[in-house]
Amino acid sequence: LLTCRGLRKEFGGHPVLDRLDLTVAEHQVVALIGASGSGKSTLLRVVNLLEQLDDGTIELDGEDISDPRVDADRVRRRIGMVFQSYNLFPHLTVLENVTLAPRRVHRRARAEAETQARELLARVGLVDKADAYPDRLSGGQQQRVAIVRALANSPRLMLLDEVTSALDPELVGEVLALIRELKADGMTMVLATHEMGFAREVADRVCFLDGGRVVESGPPEQVLGDPTQPRTRQFLRRII
Ligand code: ATP
Ligand code: MG
Repeated sequence: LLTCRGLRKEFGGHPVLDRLDLTVAEHQVVALIGASGSGKSTLLRVVNLLEQLDDGTIELDGEDISDPRVDADRVRRRIGMVFQSYNLFPHLTVLENVTLAPRRVHRRARAEAETQARELLARVGLVDKADAYPDRLSGGQQQRVAIVRALANSPRLMLLDEVTSALDPELVGEVLALIRELKADGMTMVLATHEMGFAREVADRVCFLDGGRVVESGPPEQVLGDPTQPRTRQFLRRII
């Protein structure tokens, strides 16, 4: 579904992605792990065309989306992205947040968009919050709304960047439970995470990034339990 080849991205002459390769099959969940600054967020941002590449190609469903001539908005409609800070619009209600993109970008009728949004909110147990403003919700609830908002575009691929790291520990579980459900539904996901336990449980494949390259990649039991690369071992030793 997603094929990244030789991705290169520099900031101020310093390579942040360094000939990085990554392939994600349909329905696969890939966890990106690695030290702070290893390039996880940058990788997710270039895939969502939020950053321009210096070199390399990205194919989504066989289409070269890294071609500068492609319409970035059209590509982003097929990709759902959720950040660490939930980025809900504070002046819009939960329902308005979720229906904004479907109505504006996909030009759906309001009634249809709202019906779909309520269905999605019901699934995550937040339909009673539809008319509330984000500041009345807990962090975990806001993050679940942010995920629902990304899902409202019916994306082919979800990119999740540390979606639990801004949350109080007792709120992390409800967000992880939602990601588990998405996996059960067959959603293809790439997620950057510092939660090794969660990566082990939910990911089909774990990729360890170091210096903008995938240094090691494989099933979670192998990469997290029995890494072959010294850099991976060093990283895992440090965080445990
Ligand atoms: P973390 O675990 O802390 O989220 P990360 O793996 O997501 O780290 P990135 O955010 O991708 O790391 O950053 C990789 C490197 O790129 C860092 O050294 C960062 O300072 C640099 N960087 C990222 N974005 C920019 C930018 N817009 N301008 C300049 N440098 C940047
Ligand atoms: Mg990051």
